[in-house]
Amino acid sequence: MIIVLKENTSEKELEHILEKINELGFRSDVSRGEKRTVVGVIGDEEKLREEPLKALPGVEKVISVLKPYKLASREFQREDSVFDLGYGVKVGGGNLMMIAGPCAIEGYDILHEIAVAVKKAGANVLRGGAFKPRTSPYSFQGMGEEGLKILRDIGHSLGMPVVTEVMDPRQVDLVNRYTDLFQIGARNMQNFNLLNEVGQTSKPVLLKRGMSATVTDLLMSAEYVLSNGNKRVILCERGVRSFDSSTRNLLDLAAIPNSKGLSHLPIIVDPSHATGRPDLIPSMSLAGIAAGADGVHIEVHSHPELAKSDGPQALLPHQYEELCGKMRSMAELLGKTIQVSGKA
Ligand code: PEP
Ligand code: MN
Repeated sequence: MIIVLKENTSEKELEHILEKINELGFRSDVSRGEKRTVVGVIGDEEKLREEPLKALPGVEKVISVLKPYKLASREFQREDSVFDLGYGVKVGGGNLMMIAGPCAIEGYDILHEIAVAVKKAGANVLRGGAFKPRTSPYSFQGMGEEGLKILRDIGHSLGMPVVTEVMDPRQVDLVNRYTDLFQIGARNMQNFNLLNEVGQTSKPVLLKRGMSATVTDLLMSAEYVLSNGNKRVILCERGVRSFDSSTRNLLDLAAIPNSKGLSHLPIIVDPSHATGRPDLIPSMSLAGIAAGADGVHIEVHSHPELAKSDGPQALLPHQYEELCGKMRSMAELLGKTIQVSGKA
């Protein structure tokens, strides 16, 4: 349920409304827009009647949100969410987040080589996995804390925020010490304990769509993070399972405008995991931006043949640079901004 306040509602009246919500056994979330303040009432709506809330001083109207997600919905917040990611990088509201880097962190020198190249090409967020969700337990599982240190040191020395995957609620504190953004991978999109845990941190969360998840499922998972108090959730379309094995997954481009209609949260596109094919990544990156994506997430490796994970889908640095030129033209055409990181 959403309570829309009158334009002249005082702080005292707002306090009273929040107290009342609390007394009724619900939690509240205040969102101060340019013109109006709205209060989200969080809890099982079935158990709440509108009447007592409508009568409170300062309340203009009470809207019942029919969608199962509330804080993530456009009803709750009409304007696009815009988040600062650090180092002068913003996402949302026309700002594109350009994430690039290898699938996994494999060592200082190789990450440094890739990071320098992607930064020069135009990436404004550096990625790299230290804990890898591998299909086989015998595959490389990631460098762990040593990898996190390497990622942070290189990213920050180049003036770039860094993003890395966290797979387990027990890793959140450790990863939090090094990363600027948490990535929740497709396989963990519905790991609700993990979502609750990152929801209690103050770092932005890049939430990837599960390979068999609907857009509603994705927004429900975002709701877990939001309802824990963390407002900075960035959604990511990375393809869903399909019958056609000629691409790794099926990139659901329509999910981008679909999600934007339903939610104020930014959504980016990941053509690397969606297609698994370097030859398809450029066209799908441009299509993603054209579809309204707030950023593009691409795996880049300078020696894909030596990569410990996802080598075959990596773009070479020069291919990424060429693509960045095209993405900049597309962004310009659509009136979008790509910030250069490190300028803050
Ligand atoms: C990744 O980003 O390297 C990754 C494992 O992605 P996803 O969770 O989308 O498969
Ligand atoms: Mn990968």
